[in-house]
Amino acid sequence: MLLFCNKCGRSPPVFFRPYSGERLCRGCFLRSVEKQVRQTVSKYRMFREQDKIAVALSGGKDSLALLYILHRIEKNFPKARLFALTVDEGIPHYREEAVKNARKACEELNVEHVVVSFRELYGFTLQTLAEKIKDIRGEMTPCSYCGVLRRRALNKVAREMGADKLATAHTLDDEVQTMLLNLVHGDIRRISRVEAVTPGAEKLVQRVKPFSEVPENEVALYAYLKGVDFQSSICPYAPQALRTEVREFVNRLEARHPGSKFKLYRSFEKLKPAVKASFPSQLSQCQLCGEPASQPLCEPCRLLESLRAKFPKL
Ligand SMILES: [Zn+2]
Ligand SMILES: [Zn+2]
Repeated sequence: MLLFCNKCGRSPPVFFRPYSGERLCRGCFLRSVEKQVRQTVSKYRMFREQDKIAVALSGGKDSLALLYILHRIEKNFPKARLFALTVDEGIPHYREEAVKNARKACEELNVEHVVVSFRELYGFTLQTLAEKIKDIRGEMTPCSYCGVLRRRALNKVAREMGADKLATAHTLDDEVQTMLLNLVHGDIRRISRVEAVTPGAEKLVQRVKPFSEVPENEVALYAYLKGVDFQSSICPYAPQALRTEVREFVNRLEARHPGSKFKLYRSFEKLKPAVKASFPSQLSQCQLCGEPASQPLCEPCRLLESLRAKFPKL
């Protein structure tokens, strides 16, 4: 039996989408992902016509796909400007390869590319940090430091570059995993912070996530079909063990009950207003660095202070 794409009825399918039952050919699949991103962007009103948009470009497949799609969408908005922002944490080999891919994509698309390193911003690389903390027992892994310090770096540099928005490549999977992780940690307050569009605040560039309603495997296939060069190696610092378990759990659920990821995401969307009302958050400025903070010291300063207390020479 010959199978044809459900949309165009002409070409052989390259992708089966279990939660919708569609079989799509290459062209129809690419268009469907782009359409989903356009819908997400307009549903959450992510951009205004004259926005200067910073794309957080790690050089991994998700962020490269995001750059390609936003570059496409932006063509319809001549007054909008796009630039890419890469944070070099200082992870030998792994990050070097990613930065190379990021640079290549920016050259190809003729997009301005800004690279900033942990060494410039904090005075140490993630590798140095990882070596220092490896003997300390506790919940903090290199990833927990990296996440906080990278977010700070992105916000600070995007702001200094005059960006109105900071677009990150978080996918539906990332968002669902993070919200479930917050539940497992008993930190319900944080659920309300996982948002497709974060409210902007003083010194805080508004963050937008155009892939928040696109499953990760579709973003990956998009990057692959577009011929995007992305790295196959994974970060040498193991991700949080619990996140890996949550990812596996959600993927198993999705495989047996297609559509579960979307249902979880929508359930959290409905819960968030109640969570927000119960835990209003007040943002002020960090007493040490002046960056946005929800406590007297911002999260990066709290981490850096505790690190420097333990390792004065870091
Ligand atoms: Zn088709
Ligand atoms: Zn601070």
